[in-house]
Amino acid sequence: MTKGTINVKTENIFPIIKKFLYSDHEIFLRELISNAVDATTKLKGLTSMGEIKEELGDLTIEIILDAKKKTLTVRDKGIGMTEDEVEKYINQIAFSSAEEFVKKFEGSSEADSSSLIGHFGLGFYSSFMVSEKVEIQSRSYKTEPGSKAVKWSCTGSPEYVIEESKKKERGTDVILHIADDSKEFLEEHKVLELLNKYCKFLPVPIEFGTEKKWETVEGEVDKEGKPVEKEKTVPRIVNNTNPLWKQKPVDLKDEDYMNFYREIYPMTFDDPLFHIHLNVDYPFNLTGILYFPKIKKNIEVQKNKIQLYCNQVFVTDSVEGIVPDFLTLLHGVIDSPDIPLNVSRSFLQSDSNVKKISGHISKKVADKLEDIFKNSREDFEKKWDDIKVFIEYGMISETKFYERAEKFCLFKNTAGKYFTFDEYTAHVKDIQTDKEKQLVILYTSNTEEQHGFINSATERGYDVLLMDGVIDNHFINTLEQKFEKTQFKRVDADVVDKLIVKEDQLPSKLSTEQQDQVKPILEKVANTATYTIVFESLSETDQPMIITQPEFMRRMKDMSAMGGGYSYMGNMPDHYNLVVNSNHPLISRMLEAETEDEKGKLARQLFDLALLMQNLLKGEDLTRFVQRSIEIIK
Ligand code: ADP
Repeated sequence: MTKGTINVKTENIFPIIKKFLYSDHEIFLRELISNAVDATTKLKGLTSMGEIKEELGDLTIEIILDAKKKTLTVRDKGIGMTEDEVEKYINQIAFSSAEEFVKKFEGSSEADSSSLIGHFGLGFYSSFMVSEKVEIQSRSYKTEPGSKAVKWSCTGSPEYVIEESKKKERGTDVILHIADDSKEFLEEHKVLELLNKYCKFLPVPIEFGTEKKWETVEGEVDKEGKPVEKEKTVPRIVNNTNPLWKQKPVDLKDEDYMNFYREIYPMTFDDPLFHIHLNVDYPFNLTGILYFPKIKKNIEVQKNKIQLYCNQVFVTDSVEGIVPDFLTLLHGVIDSPDIPLNVSRSFLQSDSNVKKISGHISKKVADKLEDIFKNSREDFEKKWDDIKVFIEYGMISETKFYERAEKFCLFKNTAGKYFTFDEYTAHVKDIQTDKEKQLVILYTSNTEEQHGFINSATERGYDVLLMDGVIDNHFINTLEQKFEKTQFKRVDADVVDKLIVKEDQLPSKLSTEQQDQVKPILEKVANTATYTIVFESLSETDQPMIITQPEFMRRMKDMSAMGGGYSYMGNMPDHYNLVVNSNHPLISRMLEAETEDEKGKLARQLFDLALLMQNLLKGEDLTRFVQRSIEIIK
């Protein structure tokens, strides 16, 4: 038996490990199982290189819980370690990397440390977060004469003991004597939960306890000739060693992708729209499958998150900072050993590998979308409403993505027809170019509320786009920067002939003097702080009065409502134009009315109708309007 001190130079790091990131204590199991997988993979590697000639036998990693002895054991049948190797790998290398990691942790601020992703790097010594004593029993695959199995144990102080072990089989047992404050890890359901979280797709089978399964008994049939099934207790294998993303796309069917989606998101009922299988080996390594979900109105609530793996070991499901924000709307898995996982998120964002990876994913996503668009436009149009938010979000936030997507991004008009940008411009160019040679694209944000305005526009033969998505306001801003000589105007921003000014206006029937007589009558009914009265000579068939909100004003208001940058205008009051059609006979009639009372009544009625068109007639005013209308009918 040898006793030793792990590292005399250092102060005791065990207490630091012990309290390290309390909420993340559970990662110890992932670290130990990763080591067991590595040891097994190395063994297989040696065999395929011809270094090992004998049969390897079953390589299943076992997780053994003994609640009575208060131990949790991770047992592998991998390469094992000799005494010298334990000395070198556990006492020296592993210890110093743990030490280095802990130092890094100590040096970082609290906020930063809690955002360390995955905490890879603490390794074997993370077992001391939950144990009062850790034992290793190992037998190396090396069978030179005199090689013995070795036992190492340590009680969470820098002193350790090495002695001979009675272990017969090749491989390593790491036996954790679970500390009293970590008793939860002696509960089967807790251990199973962790295995399901971190180890679900590891490449070596992992066995934990047993489960009951119904199996058919061979050669036996019941009275009706059906095979007999019996309940059997079988070892429980917790992982799928060959996850879909590691397989070749040519071997897979759509159905396989759907099944895998359900495997990673068992609580989801909505099927994804389509998937992308990622497979890169240069200049970095990355595999994965991304799914396009149906994106609901509220984009903040996308509960299925992308899962990040490192060589099939689960790391995290919060990939913010690793992939561009808009891609986090997708679902699925990304597996890459090239993402540095023991650094903070802010560091990740500036890492050049991470940037390349993001760029690549973004390109793949655009390629796939273009593919569907080109090969089955009909299908693409069917899915459009569900993927529109995603594409618009991408186009707003990434110039590169905009450039890729402008070929297949669609506009939908109020008639439900879809157009690409180029198709749409060609469609409206002739009729919607104003006298300044500007193309005016009309849009509505609500077909119900802006119905009258849409009607006026379509009556003139104009087209109106449906822009009722959650981020369409932002998207329009982006489009205006990219489209040349083009303006986007909401249909109710002005009377339609002012939105697209063609030739000189119609002559006005009301003279300027007459307009000056009408104005004071209107000022009695419409509050001038809110409404600016403007006379326009429109057609006789247009409405007598129309309430509009100038495009610029409305956008400022929309922006301030959304917060972002413009919030200093917080309580911007609403302001509208009251457009009076100076060619409408009812306006002339207002002047002809005999009494002031009659004039006022007519003005009020017309104003209320205009308010009604814009959904602005409410409360007492609405009640009075209804009563007044009944009187008129009588
Ligand atoms: P890392 O896995 O990042 O190298 P660890 O601290 O987890 O760091 O482990 C240090 C070393 O100890 C490993 O690189 C390996 O050589 C050895 N080791 C740990 N666990 C095992 C195991 N189950 N079987 C064989 N060797 C192991």
